[in-house]
Amino acid sequence: MSGAEASQNSDRRLPSRMFAQVDSAAALGESQRQMLEAILPRHAFTLMMPMGADAGGLRPLHQPFRITIHHDGLPTPWTNPNERATAVYLERIRQFHVQPPPEGRGWADIGYHFAVDVAGRVWQLRSLEWQGAHVKGANEGNIGIVALGNFDLTAPSAQQLSSLELFTDLLCCGYHIGWNNVYMHGELAANATSCPGTYLADCLRQLRARRLADTANA
Ligand SMILES: [Zn+2]
Repeated sequence: MSGAEASQNSDRRLPSRMFAQVDSAAALGESQRQMLEAILPRHAFTLMMPMGADAGGLRPLHQPFRITIHHDGLPTPWTNPNERATAVYLERIRQFHVQPPPEGRGWADIGYHFAVDVAGRVWQLRSLEWQGAHVKGANEGNIGIVALGNFDLTAPSAQQLSSLELFTDLLCCGYHIGWNNVYMHGELAANATSCPGTYLADCLRQLRARRLADTANA
């Protein structure tokens, strides 16, 4: 990354809207508090700001009412737990998302709001100020989480899965979203996609059913 790119950085803030709301929620458990404090801020993987905000590339997220879970789905499954290597990997995804077609997607910023990596770390990606670009035609009020890996080819690690559950809980708690509004990409997509991959989808289907049953029995 060049000095010129680095100098564009002014977004060293944590996702303030989320944190403001979650901090005031008395219902957080100790593990959720620890997770909140451990979220890696955006500048841990990129110093680049979103591009084209004034060109209409970004729309306000407003109040989120649903969450969608993805995998990155790249052909060679990402299985590296190293933090530094993961930061580089996330930056490569961001670059692909912002590069103009045909090389990239031509979006204003990385498409997802958060990533959960192989070791179970949570990374802040696109600011929650803005709608994501992760479910075509259904990005309104939709928080996008990407689990790093290709779960059509490999199963998620236990740490990744438990972090994904805990973090989704944290968002549900902070934004008063029920597990009935936690989706897998394939459930909302207009065009068929296996995202977030069959292995992860199986896990998430069971998890969601369990959480909905817990709610029903509470
Ligand atoms: Zn997806």
